[in-house]
Amino acid sequence: MGTTYRVTFGVRPGGIVLSQADLEYALFDINQSLSTYLETSLISEINSSRDTSLAHRIDQHFLTVFEAAKEVYEATQGAFNPAVGPLVRAWGFGADEPRNPDSAQVAMLLTQSDFAAFHIDYSERPVLHKRMAEAELDFSAIAKGYAVDEIGLLLESTGAVNYLVEIGGEVRARGRHPEDRTWRIGIEKPLEARRELQVVVELNDVSLASSGNYRNYYLRNGQKFVHIINPVTGYPEINSLLSVSVLAPDCMTADAYATAFMVMGLERALDFVELHGGPAAYFISGGEESAFETTASAGFSEILLPDENEK
Ligand code: ADP
Ligand code: MG
Repeated sequence: MGTTYRVTFGVRPGGIVLSQADLEYALFDINQSLSTYLETSLISEINSSRDTSLAHRIDQHFLTVFEAAKEVYEATQGAFNPAVGPLVRAWGFGADEPRNPDSAQVAMLLTQSDFAAFHIDYSERPVLHKRMAEAELDFSAIAKGYAVDEIGLLLESTGAVNYLVEIGGEVRARGRHPEDRTWRIGIEKPLEARRELQVVVELNDVSLASSGNYRNYYLRNGQKFVHIINPVTGYPEINSLLSVSVLAPDCMTADAYATAFMVMGLERALDFVELHGGPAAYFISGGEESAFETTASAGFSEILLPDENEK
């Protein structure tokens, strides 16, 4: 997944202790299904297939993530779009170099980034149909969260009730910290070169995922290109938001919404949370380092710990 992970869990005397190899095997299995960075993965096989008459056999990882992605796609009116693959690749955020598409090419890539081109047939064993040869899926904005949940469930299956799983900044917390207190997690300031905390939150049996555009971007001719693509315009999305953190029971949902909110921008995303029952969120916006502005939805402000570093 191109990142690091950290797993902390409590074991009862005589209980089962999962090894690093056990955890990595689970992650390996998920990557074999969902990673667009592995040529041999199931998703890569589907993406490179140009035969629209094929029924692709899918596994449980793929099915779970596809269904969750579809739900967030619909709820956010396409701000989160797992079919954004052709655009992500063209803008240089997949396995390929940036191609800097012109407006005509963007228009064409937009027609290819159509989630309606994918359809699951549940009649026997679930199979995926792809109605457009060029259509490609990209689960990068949701798969990390899913992997966090899967590691958590694996721990639960061995009887663990107190744990924290973190992959690349997406976390799932259950039970309590070894010091018999609530788990605490820091949310980073959107600084490119340094790591500093903006705020600390308490996690009570919830998951937290963040999305940001302050590290994953490139400059070309003085212009900034970020890795969050607006699936409606077809261009990398730049608005006042620098990072969004989302709270949800499962990390997969939090991960997908964090990306969606980056696309929607502060006002629309906050409306979605407060007026339409969206997941609690914490937004950091602004341009200059000294002028970060933070906005917590009502549900999120309940978990913020008072911190003298918070500005
Ligand atoms: P990170 O991987 O840094 O935690 P995200 O979870 O936001 O960040 O995932 C960003 C990735 O998701 C991009 O690199 C791209 O592959 C993909 N992506 C970009 N825009 C969208 C979008 N609007 N909907 C779904 N996936 C997207
Ligand atoms: Mg995400």
